[in-house]
Amino acid sequence: MRAQKTIMPTGPTPWHAMDAEAVLARLRSASTGLTAGEARERLSRHGPNRLSPPRKRGPLVRFGSQFRNVLIYVLLGAAALTAVLGHMVDAGVIAAVVLVNAVIGFIQEGKAERALEAIRGMLSYEASVMRDARRTTVPAEDVVPGDVVFIQSGDRVPADLRLMWVKDLRVDEAALTGESVPVEKSREPVDPEATVGDRKSMAFSGTLVTYGQATGVAVATGDDTEIGLINMLLSRVQPLTTRLLRQMAEFGQTLTVAIGAVASAAFVFGIVVREYSVSEMFMAAVGLAVAAIPEGLPAIITITLAIGVQRMARRNAIIRRLPAVETLGSVTIVCSDKTGTLTRNEMTVQTASLAEEALEVSGVGYDPHGGFTREGSEVNPLEHPQLQELARGALLCNDAVLEESGGRWRLSGEPTEGALVTLAMKAGLEPRMQKELYYRVDVIPFESEHRFMATLHHNHAGHAFIYVKGAPEKVLEMCNRERARGEDRPLDIARWERRIEEMASRGQRIIAVAFREAEDAKGSLVFSDVEGGLSLLGLCGIIDPPRTEAIEAVKQCKQAGIRVKMITGDHALTARAVGARMGIGDGRTVRTGRELDGLSDEDLRAAAEKVDIFARVSPEHKLRLVEALQARKQVVAMTGDGVNDAPALKRSDVGVAMGIKGTEVAKESSEMVLADDNFASIAHAVEEGRTVHDNIKKAVTFILPTNAAESLVLIAAIGFDMMLPITPVQILWINMITAVTLALSLAFEPAESDIMHRPPRDPREPILTPFLLWRIGYVSIVMVIGTFGLFLWERRNGASIELARTLAVNTLVMFEVFYLFNTRYLRRLVLSVKGLAGSRYVLIAVALVIIFQLLFTYTP
Ligand code: ATP
Repeated sequence: MRAQKTIMPTGPTPWHAMDAEAVLARLRSASTGLTAGEARERLSRHGPNRLSPPRKRGPLVRFGSQFRNVLIYVLLGAAALTAVLGHMVDAGVIAAVVLVNAVIGFIQEGKAERALEAIRGMLSYEASVMRDARRTTVPAEDVVPGDVVFIQSGDRVPADLRLMWVKDLRVDEAALTGESVPVEKSREPVDPEATVGDRKSMAFSGTLVTYGQATGVAVATGDDTEIGLINMLLSRVQPLTTRLLRQMAEFGQTLTVAIGAVASAAFVFGIVVREYSVSEMFMAAVGLAVAAIPEGLPAIITITLAIGVQRMARRNAIIRRLPAVETLGSVTIVCSDKTGTLTRNEMTVQTASLAEEALEVSGVGYDPHGGFTREGSEVNPLEHPQLQELARGALLCNDAVLEESGGRWRLSGEPTEGALVTLAMKAGLEPRMQKELYYRVDVIPFESEHRFMATLHHNHAGHAFIYVKGAPEKVLEMCNRERARGEDRPLDIARWERRIEEMASRGQRIIAVAFREAEDAKGSLVFSDVEGGLSLLGLCGIIDPPRTEAIEAVKQCKQAGIRVKMITGDHALTARAVGARMGIGDGRTVRTGRELDGLSDEDLRAAAEKVDIFARVSPEHKLRLVEALQARKQVVAMTGDGVNDAPALKRSDVGVAMGIKGTEVAKESSEMVLADDNFASIAHAVEEGRTVHDNIKKAVTFILPTNAAESLVLIAAIGFDMMLPITPVQILWINMITAVTLALSLAFEPAESDIMHRPPRDPREPILTPFLLWRIGYVSIVMVIGTFGLFLWERRNGASIELARTLAVNTLVMFEVFYLFNTRYLRRLVLSVKGLAGSRYVLIAVALVIIFQLLFTYTP
């Protein structure tokens, strides 16, 4: 269904109806793009390519909104009635407390908003543009009108583009039109009156490329884009609400109703049975109500979550949807990609395997210095035509660009392809020259579903060639010949398969390169062109060293009762070798995507649980695996980077996208983004998630006994027909000032030392476990006995009611202070130097409360 939006052509220029060449001319640009100087100049003229942030609510409005709360209405009503009844001081204090509450709410909301804002800023993205006639990567914010922009599957379109070259481009424009089925694009102009959804010759800023590639010229940036005009916010971070907060809110509502009933009953009981005056009983009932409601709790939970999000961001895990903070703490299985997450994604070709021999390649990284050896003796690549042919194929069927600056080689593009460019340069080929000699006419881009890439080239003599590179099984299927000594001969499949097995079991990632001639006039490439009849040039064996910190993190996860599974598109033997190095799997069992296809649902579930390494899987397998694991009641975190990973990321309990190599589509579909693509950051995030949950539990355990104790004291007083030991105003003071100040310090509690040594929490487990309920009950009874006892004792010894009440309040607050230390650890004894003095925040909070208490006690 298309959303009924009729957005008319934006300005005077109907770019979509003009010829691409005319658009270029109008924008004073060329197919080679702008110069860097011109781009700079345009950037200062047009401003950065980003949307103006939505208008923020002003501080006054935000402050005002703090009063929009049932509890506040109740309190204000109570203050008004109290004033009418002549208790001016009490009325004043209630009003003051309401004000203080609003200030606290205002400050904490601002803090949480700022934290999320900062994180939103971390999710910026990059664009691939032509500058000075070369393709480079720039921050999307720097794209200017006239820039020639390259987009491909997975990208978020950085600006409104008039397309100039299109290869099977499909774009998901839901962000703009509401239409969720991807739209096919082409370079042909469309009707000037076409609505946004029908402008097939345009790709709009903020929409997502789901398939194919294209080049276009930027016609509008920033607020001038279509999305800018309807002023939608890019990558909105979810509002501050989670399952837990909702649960607490519901709990609060039930509690309020129950308390209202109890307070009304007490009111009636007091007047009818005990014959208190209405005014006195009213104050008591209000007191009971405010005593029982944990007013400060929601604010504390929100702050704890916000602090958790900030801590995670500092450890490279950016939370996009808040509930993930909680879910992370109960994750039982992490399914991780291999490349880049467990390994460094710094690829180097180590072996070049040709029909008659295998050459070892020396050198590290993308630096093209290095050479070739055969069984230890040097080989001159320039005198090795076979090697030259393999290297040329690897270079031409390739989109990566290497650039040197200050002795360092920087890659723009895919690491796998970067490694192949380096190989070609080591073999003596000069990329620019080769690309000119054999210019590219068409391409079938690499997609992880088909696992190969193909390009069509013409040389200056007018001959056409097709190069293919990809996963070896895939490429072997396309070949019936192999290249040896400058000639084709029949393919010896068995020999190549042995080679593949041998290279893969050393942990190498293998790319096969093949070639065939085509009819001279051939101008475009389709799948059927590469289905057969190719000649295999050779294999490239690439190493990608594991991340040492990831090995450590895998170990940590295991200790924390979390299973780590590797789900990779790579070869089974490569995956097994890497798994063995990382400590994943049993070193033997691997299931491939094809094997999974043959399994029934039940068998798949069993396999998903039992096996730890899955190889040659495609994105659909990922989805099936997540579903199978969830059917077995597992809580699954799944990593992903490609467009096709989106369904699995969405389906998993915590979708984790890669910040660096991940596509925008993947990020959009996930709960969390890893700023450094590193598996270790997932383990850190789990640790922080568990800490947040612990700290919320601590805050609840800390606050509830105080409320319970206060209510019990009041009920006891009414029941035994005595003066109230604490007045409603004093209760408000305790609940809103001392309890909140103290409890807030728990939000900063660091993780307990055993946090990654316990099994994952059952997600269905309530915050208030029977143990905590028991503890709350126990502590409140101790508090009641202490407070009430001391009050009675003082009264018996002839203290005035004011003195006794002040004493009661101070006793309760001191109970709180001691109990605060107690709640710092949920499972261990707190009686240690670290337990008592280990948290600066706790000590500050205690000092503050003591100062508050002194002021409270000694000022009239
Ligand atoms: P993961 O990141 O899921 O661990 P992966 O990145 O290794 O796995 P893919 O990128 O889907 O998985 O790659 C699968 C296979 O496709 C590789 O083993 C390789 O043989 C081949 N391949 C990878 N990149 C390219 C490319 N740019 N061109 C051609 N073939 C490629």
